[in-house]
Amino acid sequence: VNSACCIGKWWVVVAMATVTPNPQHSEEESGKAQNDVYDIIISGGGMVGTAMACSLGFDPNLQSKKILLLEAGPKKEMDKAPEVYSTRVSSISPGSATLLSGLGAWDHIINLRCKSYQKMQVWDACSDALITFDKENLQDEMAYVVENDVIVAALTKQLQTLSEQVEVHYRTRVVKYTWPRPYQVSDSIPWVKVTLASGQTLHTKLLIGADGPNSMVRKEAGIPTVKWNYDQSAVVAVLHLSEPTENNVAWQRFLPKGPIAMLPLSDTESSLVWSTSHQHAEELLQMDEESFVDAINSAFWSNENQSDLIEAAGSLFRTALSVLMPNGTSTRQLPPSVAGIGPKSRVMFPLGMGHASEYIRHRVALIGDAAHRVHPLAGQGANLGFGDVACLTQVLSQAAFNGKDLGAMQHLLEYETERQRHNLPMMAAIDLMKRLYSTNAAPMVLLRTLGLQATNALPPLKEQIIAYASK
Ligand SMILES: Cc1cc2nc3c(=O)[nH]c(=O)nc-3n(C[C@H](O)[C@H](O)[C@H](O)COP(=O)(O)OP(=O)(O)OC[C@H]3O[C@@H](n4cnc5c(N)ncnc54)[C@H](O)[C@@H]3O)c2cc1C
Repeated sequence: VNSACCIGKWWVVVAMATVTPNPQHSEEESGKAQNDVYDIIISGGGMVGTAMACSLGFDPNLQSKKILLLEAGPKKEMDKAPEVYSTRVSSISPGSATLLSGLGAWDHIINLRCKSYQKMQVWDACSDALITFDKENLQDEMAYVVENDVIVAALTKQLQTLSEQVEVHYRTRVVKYTWPRPYQVSDSIPWVKVTLASGQTLHTKLLIGADGPNSMVRKEAGIPTVKWNYDQSAVVAVLHLSEPTENNVAWQRFLPKGPIAMLPLSDTESSLVWSTSHQHAEELLQMDEESFVDAINSAFWSNENQSDLIEAAGSLFRTALSVLMPNGTSTRQLPPSVAGIGPKSRVMFPLGMGHASEYIRHRVALIGDAAHRVHPLAGQGANLGFGDVACLTQVLSQAAFNGKDLGAMQHLLEYETERQRHNLPMMAAIDLMKRLYSTNAAPMVLLRTLGLQATNALPPLKEQIIAYASK
């Protein structure tokens, strides 16, 4: 399918090279259109779209380009971090932190609020199997937990310094995209037409769709998407810990209904992401605070899902591994206990997976959740999006340097190939993990118990996993 798709795209590339905009179109039309013509319009100013706007704005090869960011929501500014933590946080990989740092946003994030962690413990509720990822020895951070609003506010602050390079319109919703017909030489304006809710129309030589998982850019471009809803929703909340701790570990336990994760926010607070059946998620939302807190503590500590048989097999395997690889076992640590939750902090999100089979079309590129949506169990969604930003910037910068049409397929194809090569294996691994751990059937539990313990005993393999997830 991929090769057929590639051949199709290359055919379009060749065809496009022979088609130039119609020189016959009226001067009146062209004059009017020129004011509204942008080199690049980014539709959607979430974490990924705002990072894209900054990244293009700072690129020296794109300085003469007319760039516009359109965001339906309000401008998110922040002089100091709000007293109360937001429920929406992301675990940001070192690779994403490097990108944000290159855009000058990381210093603002540090000044506002951010918490690093050095270790991650992942374990199974149906057995004693566990895996730890540890960067203590390397004196390095494994990842950073940052509120989504803090990331957007930090990028927004940087965008303000780029007002010469990037125009930004907030509270501006796009309601329609009209595509140029690729082989139609009679079209007066050969660019993508963007119609705003106000009725205003704009044109762009390249449209970047950063408009989230329900991307209108993707749908209107007719890009096929593989997607499904999981039988799970995520309940997120801000948690108050029973006592102050160093709080530098990210915890995730796989329960039969889905994983529960606790990410550090400060010495006394953590962020909860509990993926579970829709019905259980509803119940968790309705519970009084005390029952909710009890449910969280029990989800992390209770052994009610373990069976003697699996336990015996797992323990035998662990003993064998400890003889073969004395440094390959980890001691299980208990997560901190939870004493309460933040005000109005319980929210629920239905979960799903989606992948656009093409990230590009003539004059269009998709980035972030518009191109790929993943289960939050690996904390990778936004990180994959930031990877898209770095790659697309590099490709467009090179195209501009070479004086090429930014919306042409030749270089957009490079972006698609490179990102699909990274994103697809990651998405497949996340989906597999979700499926592998969504059952308490004994053979599957045994299989994953042995697999997890074996992986834990192989430091080089763990290092490779960390390196891949850190990009
Ligand atoms: C519970 C949960 C936990 C998660 N944890 C992590 C984590 O730890 N680490 C991680 O990396 N990822 C995590 N993710 C994933 C991460 O939140 C997403 O991948 C990320 O928010 C996607 O960003 P985006 O900018 O692509 O899309 P969005 O955040 O969806 O932004 C899209 C933007 O486009 C705008 N828009 C949409 N339509 C239009 C239009 N027609 N006109 C103008 N503007 C428009 C919207 O207003 C919005 O601002 C998590 C997700 C969930 C649900």
